[in-house]
Amino acid sequence: MAYDVDLFVIGGGSGGVRAARIAAGHGARVMLAEEYRLGGTCVIRGCVPKKLMVYASRFADEFEDAAGFGWTLGEARFDWSVLKANRDAEIARLERIYRSLLDSSKVEVADERARIVDAHTVELASGRRVSAGHILIAVGASPTMEPRIPGGDLGMTSNEVFELENQPERILVIGGGYIAVEFAGIFAGLGTKTTLLHRGDKLLRGFDEDLRDALGDAYAKRGIDLALGLTLSRIDRDGGRLAATLSDGRVETFDRVLVATGRRPLTAGLGLETVGIATDGIGAIPVDAYSQTAVPSIYAVGDVTNRANLTPVAIREGHAFADTVFGGKRHCVDHGLIPTAVFSTPEIGTVGMGEEAARAKHGDDVVIFKAGFRPMKATISGRDERTLMKIVVQGSTDRVLGVHVVGHDAGEIIQMAGIALTMGATKADFDRTIAVHPTASEELVTMRTPHVVKAPVGVG
Ligand code: NDP
Repeated sequence: MAYDVDLFVIGGGSGGVRAARIAAGHGARVMLAEEYRLGGTCVIRGCVPKKLMVYASRFADEFEDAAGFGWTLGEARFDWSVLKANRDAEIARLERIYRSLLDSSKVEVADERARIVDAHTVELASGRRVSAGHILIAVGASPTMEPRIPGGDLGMTSNEVFELENQPERILVIGGGYIAVEFAGIFAGLGTKTTLLHRGDKLLRGFDEDLRDALGDAYAKRGIDLALGLTLSRIDRDGGRLAATLSDGRVETFDRVLVATGRRPLTAGLGLETVGIATDGIGAIPVDAYSQTAVPSIYAVGDVTNRANLTPVAIREGHAFADTVFGGKRHCVDHGLIPTAVFSTPEIGTVGMGEEAARAKHGDDVVIFKAGFRPMKATISGRDERTLMKIVVQGSTDRVLGVHVVGHDAGEIIQMAGIALTMGATKADFDRTIAVHPTASEELVTMRTPHVVKAPVGVG
């Protein structure tokens, strides 16, 4: 049977756009539907605008630090509206680039919502039906407003934060994951009085404990009010502001409450039930290693599958799908070793296993190398900050299992460490690598003495 197109992609974010372009490059006739803006969460209201705000938030430190290096600066003032206008213009530019890339790849774009009608048919909001040899679901996820509490709707999510016309004087950020940590750092850097409320006793659950401790210490030093082990009970209007009642009974007033307690796949109303695709407890689409769903002609990539919810992973999944189905090159993504960065200030970069995960898997066969030091720039600037570098090694094989960095450019550093780990580097490989001096990352190739875990007093 002849279909209208070979591939119909639902969702114009990182995964969908990559899959569409690569499939078209393999000769497929491709159509893509996007109901909002091309570029998806990453470009429109995620990684990219967030990183621009992170840059903005770090200038305050630079201005302060400059004094120790002999600079005298005038009064520094920050104008939220200038940042917003410039950031929005840049995002619009990137969105246009996405569109022109699709155009030049001969992908037809429908700027409307699409839903699945059957295993080979999609219906657009306009009523137009398109038949397709394959359908790719790449609709992503959106922030949740959990937990549901009285007045919870007065809060905003990471979607709305990019729309704010004015800088809040005081903000309450809820959550201890990537988004909460990053935005708490951004707002604090920009001079907003920031409270970070998290139900756990440390931020970034699942990360190496030393990293979590280092970030908590750094955030406290930066003046972020860490309200740990607490939840939010209710939000009430208080004139033009918001009164937040915390679980310890404390009531505090904020201009804004940012809820960053996770994201859910955007599968509602997609028509999955009509083709018999059952989603999991949070609405994610189960797929196999090749991103194929229970319906052979329907695939899904990116956050909607809730595997590793990161842009570069979605891009790889989309690429692998297109190569496999349309390029005659069957391959899939290895989700085992994913370098990642948290754009907190200080920044975090991590790849591979944390110490706790390594010990859980390898028991005593784990050797730890750690360096905590004051970065060179802080010596003269006088800034009270520390850098942490940590290497987790399997003792019997000498294989490096994980590298973890807290400090300047940790994201940049960890990308390079990621190559080494992907190649299966051993600690001896790190050791025979000549240091780049003077840098912070030279510590990664000069740590020789394993960190000895001290037994508690009275033990051993
Ligand atoms: P995360 O899953 O990272 O964090 C959610 C946080 O909210 C956790 O601290 C969690 O606590 C807390 N939480 C969850 N439910 C509740 C609840 N009912 N009440 C109180 N607290 C709750 O989600 P994010 O929204 O921060 O980010 C989503 C994903 O987006 C990330 O996992 C990441 O994959 C991706 N991302 C990546 C970035 C990057 O690469 N730099 C940047 C931003 C996002 P607990 O730990 O106790 O479960």
